[in-house]
Amino acid sequence: MERDYHRLLLVFADGVGLAPAAGANPLAVAPSPHLDRLLGPGGLTAGSEQSRNGLLLKGIDATLGVDGLPQSATGQTALFTGENGAALLGRHATGLPGSRLRRLIARASVFRRVTEAGLATTFANAYTRGYLDALAAGSARASVTTCAVAAAGLDWRTEEHLAAGRAVTWDIERDLFGRPLTGRAIGSPVRVEPIAARRAGRHLGRLAGDHELTVFETFLPDLAGHGRIGLPAAEVVRRLDDFLAGVLETRAPETTVVLTSDHGNLEDGGVRTHTRNPVPLLAVGPAAPRLATVDSIVEVAPCLLRILGAASS
Ligand SMILES: [Zn+2]
Repeated sequence: MERDYHRLLLVFADGVGLAPAAGANPLAVAPSPHLDRLLGPGGLTAGSEQSRNGLLLKGIDATLGVDGLPQSATGQTALFTGENGAALLGRHATGLPGSRLRRLIARASVFRRVTEAGLATTFANAYTRGYLDALAAGSARASVTTCAVAAAGLDWRTEEHLAAGRAVTWDIERDLFGRPLTGRAIGSPVRVEPIAARRAGRHLGRLAGDHELTVFETFLPDLAGHGRIGLPAAEVVRRLDDFLAGVLETRAPETTVVLTSDHGNLEDGGVRTHTRNPVPLLAVGPAAPRLATVDSIVEVAPCLLRILGAASS
């Protein structure tokens, strides 16, 4: 039996929970006209959940059955491997993954599984040459995604891909890209011309037309939620909203855009920590109904692999 042909674009937005449209929720308060048009006036908040032809929004669990606040290393491992890294370690692990998680990521990431199934996959994020050199030399520690990309043997995207409109930076508009975030520069600072979020979204939407699985990661919402960058939460919401508009207007008919997160943060303007809120699972495109069975971040990757026909069993 011939299966339906699907392409997937996974937009991973670090630190975005799905919470009610209350005054402390920037996703409710800050203007997001494109998300409102897509989802209704509540935008990307609890209360806008829906499932109809080609569109799904639901809240999914990010706590992984473990006490305490969900964190990036274990949450992203769950998202990108479909295995519960927090249960493995017995706790939520912050920041960059340690050796046990890295072994799991190297073995089981969606990049590896899709590549082994003979399908085309790419990581759309651009990195500076300085960072990539430091990563290869072991002097920069890998994130969950960079560990997964390296272990799957995928090509990296750099400044040259940005210039050709074939990559996107983590901050979407390129103004923060290449600058040290923690005071410790990796490689020399890189300056690239800023672009509008909507244009960056168009670049990503077009790139997704060339691969069965395209992944983009932005940790802008998490950094803003922690108050670690100079951008107000409303500006991050504006960027995400414009960016998704650009993605959706260039999405090929067979591509389903999936947006999700590893844990909450941005949606609670009252705290600067992560939250135990559900995270959004937003899907736009023909495979959207197939994601309706996903109830937790650990179920996302297996579902994506099934849609692509790349599941191992
Ligand atoms: Zn965080």
